[in-house]
Amino acid sequence: MTYHIITIGCQMNKSDSERIAACLEDMGYRESENRNQADLVVLTTCGVRQSAEDRIYGLVPKIKKENKDVKILLTGCLSERKDVIKRLKEKIDIWLPVNQISNLKQVLIDSGFKNSEIEACDYLKIKPKYTSKFSAFVPIGNGCDNFCAYCVVPYARGREVYRDVEEILNEVESLIKKGYKEIILIAQNVNSYYSEITNYKLQITNKSQILNSKYLRFFDLLKLVNSIPGDFWVRFASSHPKDMSDDLILAILECEKVCKHIHLPAQSGDNGVLKSMNRKYKIEHYLDLIRKIKDNTKSKLPVALTTDIIVGFPGETEEQFGNTIKLFEKVKYDMAYIARYSPRYGTAAEKIKDNVGADEKKRREGELMKVLRKTALKNNQKYSGRTVKVLAEGKNKKGILFGKTETNKTVKFWGDKNFVGKFVSVNITAVEDFSLSGDLQK
Ligand code: SAM
Ligand code: SF4
Repeated sequence: MTYHIITIGCQMNKSDSERIAACLEDMGYRESENRNQADLVVLTTCGVRQSAEDRIYGLVPKIKKENKDVKILLTGCLSERKDVIKRLKEKIDIWLPVNQISNLKQVLIDSGFKNSEIEACDYLKIKPKYTSKFSAFVPIGNGCDNFCAYCVVPYARGREVYRDVEEILNEVESLIKKGYKEIILIAQNVNSYYSEITNYKLQITNKSQILNSKYLRFFDLLKLVNSIPGDFWVRFASSHPKDMSDDLILAILECEKVCKHIHLPAQSGDNGVLKSMNRKYKIEHYLDLIRKIKDNTKSKLPVALTTDIIVGFPGETEEQFGNTIKLFEKVKYDMAYIARYSPRYGTAAEKIKDNVGADEKKRREGELMKVLRKTALKNNQKYSGRTVKVLAEGKNKKGILFGKTETNKTVKFWGDKNFVGKFVSVNITAVEDFSLSGDLQK
């Protein structure tokens, strides 16, 4: 029996797919490169934006047409949506809600698939089949309690649960021993991570001279991961501004293995819109965080700052949008993921009239992009003539190597493909708004 997985959306979905692949291989399934030759196609879906959802409506009939005997399993954000189930019920063979991934084997057996020993286990304890040999997603939690008015995640993934610190450290240690160079700690809101401290954990924390309280927080976790011996980088996503503490800012800036890149989704630069979005912070608080990050940075290059923004949230006026432009001018972001608001089924904002037209949303996105391109280019000019450490990730179609700096800047350079998965030094000779290029240093 063979399987093929198609993943749409975020890092969390990619991590889910890696866990599903591991479960399937444990049952004796082999991976098929070609979805038309697979017995089982798994769709890890995303419902965050309408465009991601529409891809599934296009994909499902196509797969069934091209591969008549295939069974399709649908998981991810769309797996519990009544309207999606109604629309696709004839074509999807197995519906697997995200919180049921740990029961995947039982679900497959119940659906008439190959028998095997059934061991339901905690989702976060499933050992994943890592897709990369040098960069690994390590989930530290799942779910979200925040209920931002526009967002489906709390409905699709349920409430926040966090993974035990020992398990996370064991997973990271074993990845580092295998030669992994980049660990990406992921959760919907890493900043609200906690793990209760047992006696055993206290030993770990004492060893690293961390705190002496009942709970270990995300900044402690970063320090613990940072103290694992080896040459590797630590990244993390996503951070909620309301939960970003001074301790966390200092830990990011002081831990040498923690990448100097902070992704801090603002969503809007206007307090009225933030209130309607139920984001639970004011823009003054957000700007204060940015100031603390900038003031405390000791590295030669500035910390890279990136964000998520939604344009055209219901009721967003021209003046309110102007405040988001001002935010971009003040922060001087290196990158921003700008989304045009789309109403999502079951969310609080779905009930508010989506009154900003499609053309206007596009225009607002364009306006923000103009500011972003300017600030990103100006930030990148600071790299000119410097030699930076780069993790080589692959070769593009033109045969040029590409990789990332710890500030998450894409760097292009000529070199042998054997460098992929390794740290190299690159002297930056040219900069653009969203990329750098240079010469590999021997
Ligand atoms: N947890 C993260 C946070 O607090 O910002 C974000 C997770 S969400 C899956 C990723 C991004 O999708 C959000 O930051 C938001 O900008 C965007 N997004 C979510 N719902 C959206 C909607 N209904 N319309 C447009 N963009 C949306
Ligand atoms: Fe969605 Fe808000 Fe939770 Fe992020 S914090 S996943 S935007 S509800």
